[in-house]
Amino acid sequence: MAQHKARAIATENPSEVAIEITTKGEGEVVEVVRQLAPEGFPTDLVPQLADYMARGFNSAYERLSPDTIDLEDYAQARGRRTDPEVEEEAQAATRLLKQLPHLTFSKVVGRVCRFKGVIAGHRCSKKCTDRIRRAVKEYAARQEIETLTKAE
Ligand SMILES: [Zn+2]
Repeated sequence: MAQHKARAIATENPSEVAIEITTKGEGEVVEVVRQLAPEGFPTDLVPQLADYMARGFNSAYERLSPDTIDLEDYAQARGRRTDPEVEEEAQAATRLLKQLPHLTFSKVVGRVCRFKGVIAGHRCSKKCTDRIRRAVKEYAARQEIETLTKAE
């Protein structure tokens, strides 16, 4: 989920296009992006330009933010005790996905599955993929909760 949001702001300079990026919720300002409007650009249109800039930021940001965590994941991550075996798979998969982003998810599953090398001839199925996908999401949600709790 997106953590930041941009909005157009007015500055002392009427030909300056400026947006402010704030944290969602608390609205704490993290960054102000300023850009002079092209020379001769009508100053009364500068606020609109700033608005476009903010909209551009927001739409690109929404798209880039990994939207893998939803409320349901939060609830489940909170409510459920973690199975250490699942946790291990989730951590290993998360690490692999980060280190080798070109790997397909099923390749990642093949590498981190707990049954591999434990059950002779085990071949990962949709069951393994579903279990690990869920675990990765819950792990991410838990990490997020931890970060949020620490930030308070
Ligand atoms: Zn498997």
